Amino acid sequence: MVLQKMKYDFVIVGAGFAGAVLAERISEVLKKRVLLIEKRDHICGNCYDEYDEYGILIHKYGPHIFHTNSSTVFKYLSNFTEWRKYEHKVLAKYNNELFPIPINRLTISKFFNINLAENEVELFLKKQCEQTQKIDNSEDYVVSRIGQKLFDAFYKEYTYKQWGKYPAELSASVCRRLPIRSNDDSRYFTDKFQYMPAEGFSSLFKSMLSNPKIDIMLGKDYKSVIENISYKKLIYTGPLDYYFDYNLGKLNYRSIEFVLQNYKKVSFQESPVVNYVNKYVPFTRISEFKKITGQFADTTTICKEFASNKGEEYYPIIDAENLQLLKKYKKKTRRFANTIFIGRLAEFKYYNMDQIVARALKVFNHLAEQF
Ligand SMILES: Cc1cc2nc3c(=O)[nH]c(=O)nc-3n(C[C@H](O)[C@H](O)[C@H](O)COP(=O)(O)OP(=O)(O)OC[C@H]3O[C@@H](n4cnc5c(N)ncnc54)[C@H](O)[C@@H]3O)c2cc1C
Repeated sequence: MVLQKMKYDFVIVGAGFAGAVLAERISEVLKKRVLLIEKRDHICGNCYDEYDEYGILIHKYGPHIFHTNSSTVFKYLSNFTEWRKYEHKVLAKYNNELFPIPINRLTISKFFNINLAENEVELFLKKQCEQTQKIDNSEDYVVSRIGQKLFDAFYKEYTYKQWGKYPAELSASVCRRLPIRSNDDSRYFTDKFQYMPAEGFSSLFKSMLSNPKIDIMLGKDYKSVIENISYKKLIYTGPLDYYFDYNLGKLNYRSIEFVLQNYKKVSFQESPVVNYVNKYVPFTRISEFKKITGQFADTTTICKEFASNKGEEYYPIIDAENLQLLKKYKKKTRRFANTIFIGRLAEFKYYNMDQIVARALKVFNHLAEQF
């Protein structure tokens, strides 16, 4: 007996933001049938949240904070969720004392035990800095902006823990992402829209993927089922090197082990996230979920992050070797005109959630012209 193949217009691999936005748009606007294949046992990609055994809403793959300057992205996602205003705050624990991060006037005043006025900060920092001729790496950049002492305290060891490399070994762009402020603004982000989905990310995704034209297959690696499916176009959001069976080599990622603990107390720490910047503390940061999600409960669940080179692929390591390999894989994708490669893994590129939503909407607009 010959088995009938399942028939779809589109097969999408991966139910993170890239896959979910495209599935939603294709089913809603183009009225096409979509099969979404996800190897994990849940939708929502790395943004996945769920209630733990203590009734606390946790983010399984580390804390995810939504923020954007794009009204297009915010308006689009508002179709699927109500929002709760949330401005993220981070403190750094250095030698057992807490300091606001990103570095601002309050951080500098406390660290040097002085009271600077806002208009004195830049001059003070200038005096801390040595004249650097060339900015070749992250250490050069930070030392040229805030001087050696603040660099040693807040960047050097923390960066090493996070990336397994010192700032001197990383491109300037890595540490440049974190702003340095001369005012008292202690918010981690300054984006126009800073909100969390009121019922969480999984609920947002459920609503996004509710169109009956979308079928979802969970717990399946697409390679194990793709031969039984007939489709017109493939959208691939999994790892680029895996698509090609690693035949040119492996792209390297930094991974994280998340260790969750519940405490029988209302509050664990002073802010939603505390970065542990000293090397003698083995983890990078502790997040307290309730302080991010706004949940009220008698107990609290925290997440400690231990960075490592082994484990799930989280942060693409952008160095010369990987960029060269990426270039080779990208060249190979050109031969697959019927496949769209999009997302954090398929493009080997770090995207914030709003950035990948914007990218998926753009890719959809392009696609819509062809259908
Ligand atoms: C630790 C961490 C913290 C973050 N915090 C924030 C934050 O605070 N704010 C923010 O804006 N962004 C944050 N991000 C970024 C955010 O997670 C990404 O923007 C988002 O995950 C990108 O979506 P994506 O669809 O490209 O990838 P993903 O969410 O990773 O989705 C890809 C999906 O493809 C599936 N898949 C892979 N291979 C296969 C296969 N062979 N078969 C079937 N399915 C497959 C995977 O299981 C996954 O579900 C964070 C990322 C990490 C790693």
